[in-house]
Amino acid sequence: MKKSVTNDSLNPELSESIIKSIEGLAIIISLFLSFTVLLGWYFEEKQILSMIPGSATMKFNTALVFLLTGILLVIQKTKKTAILFIYYSLALIIVIIGVFTLLEYTGWSVFSIDNLFVSDKFSSKYPGRMSPATAVCSVFLGLGFITEISANNFFKKAAGFLNALIVFISILAITAYILFIPMGHKGILFQSMAIHTSLLFFLISILKILKNTKHELLPLIWGNFAGSKLIRKVLPLMILFPIIFNYLLVIAIEKELFSFDFGLIAYATIFIPLSIFYITYIALGLNKTDIEKQLVENDFRKSNRYLKQFKNGIDKAFILAITDKYGVITEVNETFCKISKYGENELIGKTHSILNSGHHDKQFFTKMWKTIRSGEIWIDEIKNKAKDGSYYWVLTAIVPFKNEDNQITEFMALRQDITDRKNAEEDRLQYLKKLEYKNKELEQFAFVASHDLQEPLRTVINFTDLLARKQKHHFDDIGIKSLDFIQEATVRMSQLIKSLLDYNRIDKNSKLSRIACNELIEEIKIDLDKKIADADATVIVNTLPTIIGYETPLRLLFQNLISNGIKFRSKEVKPYIEITARPMADGFLFMVKDNGIGISANHQEKIFEIFKRLHSKDEYDGSGIGLAHCRKIVDLHGGKIWVDSTPGSGSTFSFTIKTVYNEKKDQLHPID
Ligand code: ADP
Repeated sequence: MKKSVTNDSLNPELSESIIKSIEGLAIIISLFLSFTVLLGWYFEEKQILSMIPGSATMKFNTALVFLLTGILLVIQKTKKTAILFIYYSLALIIVIIGVFTLLEYTGWSVFSIDNLFVSDKFSSKYPGRMSPATAVCSVFLGLGFITEISANNFFKKAAGFLNALIVFISILAITAYILFIPMGHKGILFQSMAIHTSLLFFLISILKILKNTKHELLPLIWGNFAGSKLIRKVLPLMILFPIIFNYLLVIAIEKELFSFDFGLIAYATIFIPLSIFYITYIALGLNKTDIEKQLVENDFRKSNRYLKQFKNGIDKAFILAITDKYGVITEVNETFCKISKYGENELIGKTHSILNSGHHDKQFFTKMWKTIRSGEIWIDEIKNKAKDGSYYWVLTAIVPFKNEDNQITEFMALRQDITDRKNAEEDRLQYLKKLEYKNKELEQFAFVASHDLQEPLRTVINFTDLLARKQKHHFDDIGIKSLDFIQEATVRMSQLIKSLLDYNRIDKNSKLSRIACNELIEEIKIDLDKKIADADATVIVNTLPTIIGYETPLRLLFQNLISNGIKFRSKEVKPYIEITARPMADGFLFMVKDNGIGISANHQEKIFEIFKRLHSKDEYDGSGIGLAHCRKIVDLHGGKIWVDSTPGSGSTFSFTIKTVYNEKKDQLHPID
C-alpha cells in the first residue's frame, strides 16, 4: 500500500494562488510590453525598444511573439476547447517566426520576415532580425505551447524540457546584462537579445514550469522535509554567489585592479572552500534534526510495541468491541463473537441493541449514555441475549476515546463473562427465599402447635388440681407421689410451651428504637434485685453505647445472660458479673463475664440450641431455652454470639450488634 505523507508546509490552495498571481503578471506584462514595443516601432521610439541605452532593441517580431504568447496564456486560462484551433494556430505562428529567423541566419533564406511589418533603422547589423537566442526561444516557446496541452506523457515531458531550455537561455542573457558584458563579447547567440526580451522569456518559462509541476516543484521548495530545507538553504548561495562575485570581478577588472586570470583563480579559491564550509554546516544541521527524528521514532516505535502488547493482552482477556461515537460497532474480537454467537460480519455496522435482552429498563441505558458522553468511564453488569436466544451476563466497562480537541471519537467496550457468578447468585437468592419461606412455615407450625397444646394441658392441670384437692385422701402413698409427679410435670410442660411461644414471638415486627444500654441494664438490675441479693452477687456495668435495636428482645438478651451468670455460680466464690462493650468497624461487641462454673469446650456450641441443658433440673432450674433466645435476638440485630469459657473459672458470653440498619431507619421511634 502506498502511504501518502504530505510534504506541504505550503497548502495546495496557496500554491495554486501563487501560480495564478504569476500567471496574471505574465499575461499583463507580455501583453503590455509587446503592445508598447509594437507602438515604439510604429513611432520609432528607440528608448522603449532597447530599455538600456546602447543595448539591443526588442525587435518587432519578438514583440509579436510576446503578443501571441499573452493571448495564448489567456486562452489557456479560459480552458475553452472550442478555440483550440486558434490556440494551435497562434503557437504555430510563434514557431514559424523563430524558424524563419533561424533559417535567415543560416543564409538559406526563402522568405525574409525581418522587416515584414516595420523597417528597422536602429540596428546596424541584421536590421529587424531578432537575435538567434530569441529565435531559438521562440521556437521552443511555440513548441512548448503545442506539446504541453497534449494528453501524451512524452509530449508533456518534452514541453517541460523546452521550458527548461528557455529558462537556461534567458538566465544566460540576463546574467550577461548584470555583468555588463559588452555586446561583442556575448557571442553570436546572444548578441542582440534585449534585456526585456530575456526577462519576459524567463518569466513565461518559469510560469510554465511551475504550472506543469505545481504538485512537485512548489512543495519541493516550500516543503518540510530535509530535501526542501536543503534546496532553500543552498540554492540562494549557488545563484547569488556567482552573480555577485562575477559582478564585482567585472568591475575590478574594468578598473584594472587585477587581471582576468587572477579573478578566475580568486573565484575558484573562494567559491570552493566557502561552498564546502557552508554545505558542511547545513549537513551538520540536517544530521542533528535527523538524529532527533530518529530518537522520536525510536520512542514512537517503543510505545507502539507497548501498545500492541497491551492490546493483545486485552484482546485475549476480554470481550472487546470498538464502536464509533454513535455506538455503531466497528471492531469486535473473537471472544465477543464466541459469547454472542454472532459472526463478525453480523456485528459490524450494528449497535449493541442487537444483544438487548430486555432485562434492563430504558433508564439504565439512558444513564449509561449520559455517563460515557460526558467522557466518563461507565462500569456495570449487563444481561445480554446471544444469537441463539440464550442469555449471558457481562461485567462491562465502556471507555470513551478522545481526540486532541477532547472530543469523543470512539468507545471501547471491555467485558467479562460473569454468567456463572450471576447464576450462582440467582440460585442463592432463590434458595434464601425458599429457606425464609420454610422458616416462616416452621415458626407458624411451632406457634400453632404450642398454642393448641396449651388448651388440653390446661384441662389436665385443672383436673389434677381438682383431684389433688378433692380426692387426695382416697390415694395411698404411691398414688399421692404419682399425683405430685403429674402436677410437677404439667407445670413444667406449661412452662416449656410458654417459652416456646415466647421464642416464636421474637420477630422483626417490633419497632426499632434508640436504646441506651446502661439505662436498660439498670432497669434489668432492678427487676433482678431479689435474685442478686439472694445470691449476694455483684453486677458491674461499664460504659455502654446507645444503639439502635429492638428494645424488648434486647432486654431479654441481657436479662438471660445476667441471670445465667448468677444461676450457674460456683459454690466457692460469690457471683461476680461484669458487662463491657467495645466499638467495632460496623457495630459493637458486648461481653458479659461471670466467675461461675464454666462450660467445657465440647458444650460451648450446643448450649445455644433450643432446650439444650447441661444440668438436671434438680441441680439448676431452667428450661434450656434462654441461650436459644439470646442467639435469635443477636441474629435479629445482624450479629453473632459465642462463649469463651474454662470449666471452674467462669464464662464470657460475647455478642455483636450491627450499628444501624440503614434500610430500616424509617422504622425508628422518634425518641429524640
Ligand atoms: P437454662 O438456663 O434454662 O438451662 P440456657 O439456654 O439459658 O437454659 O442455658 C443452657 C445451658 O447452658 C444451661 O443449662 C447451662 O448448662 C449452660 N450455661 C448457660 N449459661 C451459663 C453460665 N453462665 N455458666 C455456665 N453454664 C451456663
